[in-house]
Amino acid sequence: MERKVRVRFAPSPTGALHIGGVRTCLYNYLFAKQHGGDMIFRIEDTDSNRFVPGAEEYIIEALEWLGIKFDEGVSYGGNYGPYRQSERRDIYRKYVDQLLESGHAYIAFDTPEELEAKRNEIANFQYDASTRMQMSNSLSLSKEEVDARIARGDQYVVRAKIEPNEEIVVHDIIRGDVHVNSSILDDKVLYKSADNLPTYHLANIVDDHLMEVSHVIRGEEWLPSAPLHVLLYRFFGWEDTMPQFAHLALLLKPDGNGKLSKRDGDRLGFPVFPLEWHDPKSGDVSSGYRESGYLPEAVINFLALLGWNPGNDQEIMSMDELIALFKLERCSKAGAKFDFEKGRWFNHQYLQMTDNRTLAELFMKDINAAGVETTIEMAEQVVGYMKSRVNFVKELWPLCSFFWIAPTSYDEKAVAKRWKAETPAMMAELREQLAAWNDYDNAEATEEYVKGWCEAKGYGLGNVMNPFRLMLVGELKGPHIFEITAVLGKDETLRRIDTALNTIKN
Ligand code: GLU
Repeated sequence: MERKVRVRFAPSPTGALHIGGVRTCLYNYLFAKQHGGDMIFRIEDTDSNRFVPGAEEYIIEALEWLGIKFDEGVSYGGNYGPYRQSERRDIYRKYVDQLLESGHAYIAFDTPEELEAKRNEIANFQYDASTRMQMSNSLSLSKEEVDARIARGDQYVVRAKIEPNEEIVVHDIIRGDVHVNSSILDDKVLYKSADNLPTYHLANIVDDHLMEVSHVIRGEEWLPSAPLHVLLYRFFGWEDTMPQFAHLALLLKPDGNGKLSKRDGDRLGFPVFPLEWHDPKSGDVSSGYRESGYLPEAVINFLALLGWNPGNDQEIMSMDELIALFKLERCSKAGAKFDFEKGRWFNHQYLQMTDNRTLAELFMKDINAAGVETTIEMAEQVVGYMKSRVNFVKELWPLCSFFWIAPTSYDEKAVAKRWKAETPAMMAELREQLAAWNDYDNAEATEEYVKGWCEAKGYGLGNVMNPFRLMLVGELKGPHIFEITAVLGKDETLRRIDTALNTIKN
């Protein structure tokens, strides 16, 4: 029988969610939704030393912004809870005891000092079948001694008892079968009496089992843990319901040399976090895609293609299309270079597809922040004329402020070149023509009207349009001149001409 698809995103709340983690979450989501499955949000917080306040809230907010929805988990509820591992202590204890009873795990008392001494004594020391009998544990000590130590309150850990020279196979959807000899593994700590909590490995396996997870899709950095995880499934007798693994290749630095890091973002000026992150310990602020002006749909599309492609050269895909097309089998084994210029390109594309009203609402914030009052209609009109020239909404204001703020000075070089002896008289005449015209909203009609007049007068278009633009904008920039007059309207157009004629002196 086919199992119901259930996947989980299981971050540890140790800081801001890195963009690579977002991609992992996205791939889980696409896979779950394609199969009509469930997407679980689990918080893996058994390592209290690495806990960072605010990280959990940050992760939830970031994924909400991106439109990745969970079916169950922390802050969503569900039938398999609690979903925060620190709230599942009692559950784990039972499974630790089960491994101890079946002989697949043992108790070890070695103090950090004792372990350090061993490391100094034996080169490349590993706690495993070759060394464990030299250590203080329930295999090397008598039962009486072990009981006595526990009774007097000695701290201990529980370690997996890994038999050497066994073949372990990790079936990985992306990588195929990965064969590992158990002799390279160490007797990993599964549980610590000091905080009465399991380590990542045990909690992760027990939860995946109890939450009926069918597929574990996670970053490549967890591949080295997978053989132990396979063994744990064997120890518990859960092989039949073991999830299928898919380990995603790393996101690489833009030049392909090594893993993408936060420092690459700082160095090259692009965000590596979905939202701005204020590190509560260092006080450092790291930029986020949201605050940098990216549209969430663009970020999703961009991330989806970092390590996966649909098998053709289609690039623009909505979340629904991604859900329909995504295939784990098509995920690359090799790392994906982080091409942030491509991210900007995606944002440009999505900006063009977003309706002008929505963009105008975002643009209004920048207009108002500059202390300028306006109407949403005017903002929308400007967005319509100008969005093809920008990658981000925030680039609009510097390009478009002249629509709201009339020039008071004029680019000197342009004046020297374009404002000729005959220009003032010609512009005064143009003003007269424009004063007799009323259909400003219709940019094409205005253009025809003005060009018709130029032709009738025998005036060269360049001799008219350049000074005209200078009067309206203050420099020789901006969109089509009659789009400008359409936005400004008659009164403002005439006012700017008057100001210019009074200000620009030859
Ligand atoms: N807690 C691990 C993390 O932070 C989860 C790894 C896994 O998905 O098994 O990524």
